[in-house]
Amino acid sequence: MDKIQMKTPLVEMDGDEMTRVLWKMIKDELILPFVDLKTEYYDLGLLHRNETEDQVTVDAANATRKYGVAVKCATITPNRQRMEEYPQLTQMWKSPNGTIRAILDGTVFRTPILIDSIRPVVRNWEAPITVARHAYGDVYRAVDLYTTEPGTCTMTFTPENGEPQTLTVQKVAGPAVWQAAHNKEDSIRSFARACFQYAVDTKQDLWFSTKDTIAKVYDGEFKKVFEEEFEAYKQDFERLGITYFYTLIDDAVARVIRSKGGFIWACKNYDGDVMSDMVSTAFGSLAMMTSVLVAPDGTTEFEAAHGTVTKHYYKHLAGERTSTNPMATIFAWSGALRKRGELDELPELIKFADRLEAACFKTLNEGIMTKDLVGLVSPDFPAKAVYSDEFIAAIRERM
Ligand code: NAP
Ligand code: MG
Repeated sequence: MDKIQMKTPLVEMDGDEMTRVLWKMIKDELILPFVDLKTEYYDLGLLHRNETEDQVTVDAANATRKYGVAVKCATITPNRQRMEEYPQLTQMWKSPNGTIRAILDGTVFRTPILIDSIRPVVRNWEAPITVARHAYGDVYRAVDLYTTEPGTCTMTFTPENGEPQTLTVQKVAGPAVWQAAHNKEDSIRSFARACFQYAVDTKQDLWFSTKDTIAKVYDGEFKKVFEEEFEAYKQDFERLGITYFYTLIDDAVARVIRSKGGFIWACKNYDGDVMSDMVSTAFGSLAMMTSVLVAPDGTTEFEAAHGTVTKHYYKHLAGERTSTNPMATIFAWSGALRKRGELDELPELIKFADRLEAACFKTLNEGIMTKDLVGLVSPDFPAKAVYSDEFIAAIRERM
């Protein structure tokens, strides 16, 4: 069989622990036998990030801008515990995802992979709900302060030219906590464009929710920018028969639960963090959640939403076989290859991505699945738990 040819390389970002093990299995078994794979490889494994003083992450993000499509393996974000586990670390390196997001100025879209035998906890959900999370600012870039004395807190903005503006936050009689958050109009605009573009690309309705009745200026700015940016997409939305719908976050939560699914829900940074975990859990499993970072210029990075599955990795190191679910990582690869195929007009590569996903669904629909899913399927569905390598072999057979 002739291998499928590629034109432009894909940016490949390798990662850590169990997902790094799965990464190699997926490439060796499901991709390399069929595709003459062209990638520009970046090793984002923790120790290599450490050796390069994290330059490799920056290089990988810049390569993604250059080539337009990347696929990323889950990576360790070091914390205190990891510093003890890896004494050779010279710094508590920042989250690679944060670094990449900052460089690409992207929005993260998370979509669950649905299968018939796993019913969402919310019975009326029939189609996936994609949560689009703004990836800049708000509490994630806030400054916090704890004070013990009675006193007054003020907030001052000092322009480079012109008079400072000061507001009183609150006068307190005792200990208090304070927080100052911000967002940038440019970033909100990019977020809005990425959401409208993704809605057009995937032909789905777009919902957006904030709390602008309370945060009149802050959230009001988000609402206003979305309305302004929508003007440029209105015609596309009409042509495709899709809608843009703004509502308050509490109203959105109620509507999402009562909906059939099949739309994109754009959320501010914190709302998106929380709601994507709720939505993914209600759909079934974090192991079945894909994540796509889309930059305003269309640059796209595909990954799994879950982490490096540390507990499984330690079993793997101890010589045990594990039943870790590779679905989200496989779909990161198929998503990236499909996108590459679309950009380079390679119908064979697009077809390959479709075939790979179809083989995954066929395997799962025949009841061959990893342990995490066996616990979730309907009781009358005959499911068998297999190890990761067996699951991947079953997919390959069906390809
Ligand atoms: P995690 O790796 O997502 O795993 C949490 C638990 O969820 C696992 O112990 C496992 O449960 C279950 N799980 C997740 N993915 C699974 C899969 N594919 N198959 C089967 N079960 C799966 O989260 P974590 O343990 O909190 O984080 C581990 C490391 O990942 C951390 O160092 C963190 O920094 C990093 N992380 C990276 C990313 C990223 O790169 N995008 C995202 C999140 C976290 P059981 O143990 O019960 O089987
Ligand atoms: Mg979170």
